[in-house]
Amino acid sequence: MSLLEDYPPSLLPENYQTLKERAIDWALANGLIIRPTAEVALPQNVSAIHAPVALFPSLIPREAFEQAVNLQPIFNKLYHNMSLDDAFINSIIREVSKVDDFIKRLYDIYLKTKDNVQPIVFCIHRSDYLLHMDEGDVKPKILQVEFNTIAASFSSLSAQTGKLHKYLMEFTGYFDADARLNAESLPENASWTSLPKGIAKAHELYGSSKAVVMMVVQPGERNAFDQRWIEYNLLQNHKVHLIRKTLAEVSEQASVDPTTGSLTIAGNEISVVYYRAGYSPDDYPTEQQWQARLLIEKSKAIKCPTVAYQLVGTKKAQQEIAKPGMIQRYISDPIQVKKLYASFAELYPLDATPEGEAATKLALEKPERFVMKPQREGGGNNIYTKDIPSTLARLSVSERSSYILMELIKPPPMKNTILREGELISGYMASELGIYGIFIATQDGKVLVNEPAGHLLRTKSADTNEGG
Ligand code: ADP
Ligand code: MG
Repeated sequence: MSLLEDYPPSLLPENYQTLKERAIDWALANGLIIRPTAEVALPQNVSAIHAPVALFPSLIPREAFEQAVNLQPIFNKLYHNMSLDDAFINSIIREVSKVDDFIKRLYDIYLKTKDNVQPIVFCIHRSDYLLHMDEGDVKPKILQVEFNTIAASFSSLSAQTGKLHKYLMEFTGYFDADARLNAESLPENASWTSLPKGIAKAHELYGSSKAVVMMVVQPGERNAFDQRWIEYNLLQNHKVHLIRKTLAEVSEQASVDPTTGSLTIAGNEISVVYYRAGYSPDDYPTEQQWQARLLIEKSKAIKCPTVAYQLVGTKKAQQEIAKPGMIQRYISDPIQVKKLYASFAELYPLDATPEGEAATKLALEKPERFVMKPQREGGGNNIYTKDIPSTLARLSVSERSSYILMELIKPPPMKNTILREGELISGYMASELGIYGIFIATQDGKVLVNEPAGHLLRTKSADTNEGG
């Protein structure tokens, strides 16, 4: 059916064994690693295992890849402008916050801190896409899955995976059998350096050479090395120090100067707060974590991102912005507007409006066409196809309003082999392309940095809905 079907090159079983052994050692030697699960980890965090990777680079048509990269600065600008629009945030979040307590807590902080005392706005984005191909289509197109405005991860491990594939290609020669695999088709991935560079620029704009950057982390984070590489690259390339703190530690150790607004923790003034936690209700098990979040938001530290930015990164905002006429409020160039709309899948509200009622009816009649999403980040929350009717049946109309309905994107079939915890898993896969973006601006609208910042290509088994 598709141009991606004749992939990957066929190899002998012993070749797979070589690739596996080489990939594991390269990953361990080069920090392409994660912490093991608690059951198998050695005490005191002394052990690591290779990160799950695809053995062969997954194919993305060049045209689709370049389209996604070119969209990134436009999306950066769009989401920035949305985050500054108080009326937009109020209109979409007020409704959702009536039934979603997590969103309500974030919205409360937004209402208390929206007169941000820090003039610099800095965000690291990642726009995620799947290839989509309907019956009869001759080539796949990209459709946006979601736009991440907080804690977009894997920038370091993604870049290392690209280097792993180059190493496997050069060392084994096995990839030569497929003309599509060559030095040129494995693009250099800027995500290795672009995130540290963006953080360093924001730090510089804060304007205090003695200050340090704070990464807000989850206790027991398994993806710690992806984060460590950002810290190491920041220090090595920019001479900027980064400390790691959980929200609980912030609440115990941080204070805000009542006159200057500066945020201080353990004697260090904080220039930039970079959140790699705080996007999930699980990150706020007690009031302590909410207090920490409020303290940070009130301070004059640069927040990556602000709570306003986090709120416009919700699925609800994604659905609202996809309505006809909405993008034009924020982007004036009609060509850019058209490009953005072309990357959207069908999106509908599931609220009590006539549109929401019609979408609910459609979802009950043709559930196989849709996925239903709540206002959550971090995977594992969506409701797919046949599970939609029973879910809709048990939700009240107001509960339903906190979900959106999205067209199911259908990636063309492509085979690959995944290496996970030392095991090889072969079969049909789907690849999700993420493009990172760096955006720095002043509150009053002067754009200082607006760039695409590298990519992530996440490959997962086609028959699992999520993960990878
Ligand atoms: P999260 O914030 O939890 O990451 P996503 O919107 O990215 O939420 O959904 C999680 C995963 O579900 C995606 O990585 C993708 O694999 C799958 N998914 C999401 N939306 C769609 C869709 N419209 N069609 C097909 N798969 C989807
Ligand atoms: Mg996602």
